[in-house]
Amino acid sequence: MRTPVIAGNWKMNLLRDDAVALARDVASALDGSTGVEVVVCPVFTVLSSVAEAFAGGSVEVGGQNCYGVESGAFTGEISPQMLRDAGCAWTIIGHSERRQIFNESDALLNKKLHFALASGLKVMFCIGETLEERESGAMNDVLRRQVIEGLKGLDDTDFTRVVLAYEPVWAIGTGVTATPEQAEEAHAFTRELVAEAFGGTVAADLRIQYGGSVKPDNAAELLAKENVDGALVGGAALQADSFAAIVKAAR
Ligand code: PEP
Repeated sequence: MRTPVIAGNWKMNLLRDDAVALARDVASALDGSTGVEVVVCPVFTVLSSVAEAFAGGSVEVGGQNCYGVESGAFTGEISPQMLRDAGCAWTIIGHSERRQIFNESDALLNKKLHFALASGLKVMFCIGETLEERESGAMNDVLRRQVIEGLKGLDDTDFTRVVLAYEPVWAIGTGVTATPEQAEEAHAFTRELVAEAFGGTVAADLRIQYGGSVKPDNAAELLAKENVDGALVGGAALQADSFAAIVKAAR
């Protein structure tokens, strides 16, 4: 039995007062939620304040990205140690916006993943194909490359702190959601890839979130699929009631 993980990716949104207000609203909307892990990933500048707002409850806080080095001359970057210092238990790595806008490669993401895990963070590691890749029939090859290169070198213990997020790029922020059947097909294929490369036990225990225009009205049918173990939520995580409704759908 895999406990679902629902994470809110607030992306580059919200100044401090609004972020803290949203965190408080989420905490009270979720009061008493059990059977699901909940993570919220705000911008770096408000991490401490949001972590404080969630303190004492079950919601954990995560960064949206981090670098693969502890400290030094890396202008504009942030380390896993700094995320932990700000109250994070998690980080996202490899979001498609990082891969596409900031040209982050599989090799770089693999380095960041290893370092984040070694630094004590749990990681949501994102994979997913573009529309062009899907339409040209390259989807499986893309997922294979992202899984094999991205997760290279992880051992069984590492995998206990990794969640994969399957996020088809064409569904992120577009309002177009993968159908439950499309999501299930990609998740089942991803689990097979992990089984081939890292073994059946790791694959069976690994949680795979779906991300891409998840909303309260489509969450239940996506989350009902056998291989969908949670959601990474962007737009709908910016409102406490819609995020809470998605968490409830996962219970
Ligand atoms: C995301 O940011 O990872 C995401 C899936 O965004 P949205 O839910 O807005 O599509």
